[in-house]
Amino acid sequence: MHALIKHLIPAVVLATACGAGAQDYPNKSITIVVPFAAGGPTDTLARNLGVTLTNTLKQQVVIDNSGGAGGTIGINKVAKSKNDGYTLLLMHIGMATAPSLYRTLPYDTMNDFEFIGQVADVPMTLLGKKTLPPNSLKELLPYLKANKDKVNYANAGIGAASHLCGLLFMSQIETDLTSIAYKGTAPAMTDLLGGQIDLMCDQTTNTTAQIKSGTVKVYGVTSAARVPSLKDIPTLAEQGMKGFEVVVWHGFYAPKGTPKPILDKLVAALQTAVQDPGFKSRLAELGAEPVPLAKANPDALRSHLQAEINKWGPIIKKAGIYAD
Ligand code: ASP
Repeated sequence: MHALIKHLIPAVVLATACGAGAQDYPNKSITIVVPFAAGGPTDTLARNLGVTLTNTLKQQVVIDNSGGAGGTIGINKVAKSKNDGYTLLLMHIGMATAPSLYRTLPYDTMNDFEFIGQVADVPMTLLGKKTLPPNSLKELLPYLKANKDKVNYANAGIGAASHLCGLLFMSQIETDLTSIAYKGTAPAMTDLLGGQIDLMCDQTTNTTAQIKSGTVKVYGVTSAARVPSLKDIPTLAEQGMKGFEVVVWHGFYAPKGTPKPILDKLVAALQTAVQDPGFKSRLAELGAEPVPLAKANPDALRSHLQAEINKWGPIIKKAGIYAD
């Protein structure tokens, strides 16, 4: 055998063992599946992340909005996608609540994915349409009790953060409102602005512009502390809703079996993103924050996801909410 060919064989075997295409990854555009509609909070985060990933990985990042069923349709799409690093998932806290909210899921949350890392934390805001009579949370609560059959509440489906926030809010005020499901809170916001929707709880990444331009009423933020970019808006907790805290954390995932060298490149690119001043300041304007570096890795995401599944399971069970 020719000496050169002899030398090439181990390299070919090694490349195959690492996974086909792992060494020159990425050599084409990467798709991030966002399991909600375009223009909403998850989409906004994915597009901002995409900018920094493109700079690092030198390939275009394309967003695929596959909304519906509280995000579970898009999650399932990634679970069933080719594990070559070209189809990834950005999903929020709903990854942890869906296993308790749905009697059956078409994917296995802990076993059908590779974990890349946590991405960002985003607080929520409780909003009303501009013409909703109450001007404060104090006025809102008696208004909702008196008008519970008339008031509707938008969310992005069972399993969405807006759904979770609504559940917690309704259980605190012991009043059930009619909920209307959308494929994401971007279309829900359109209807809130149009007056067809009365109330919505949604991430600051979708609500900051509307709050600042005064086109909606805002009753509070859902984080434990006030949001620096919305510092005049009180938290729900400081207005008497003790313990009301929802901060929407986000994870970045790949289909199970994605080769380790590809995952390593994605982890490194994510770590560059969370430290990127441009990414940080774009998110800060929207009331959000990238995670600290220590959370932007597979182990941190895996253990946080498991802890969140364990945390929300009993709360959801107590609320008695299931979807089929
Ligand atoms: N904000 C939505 C939610 O409730 C998701 C979205 O449209 O991005 O989870």
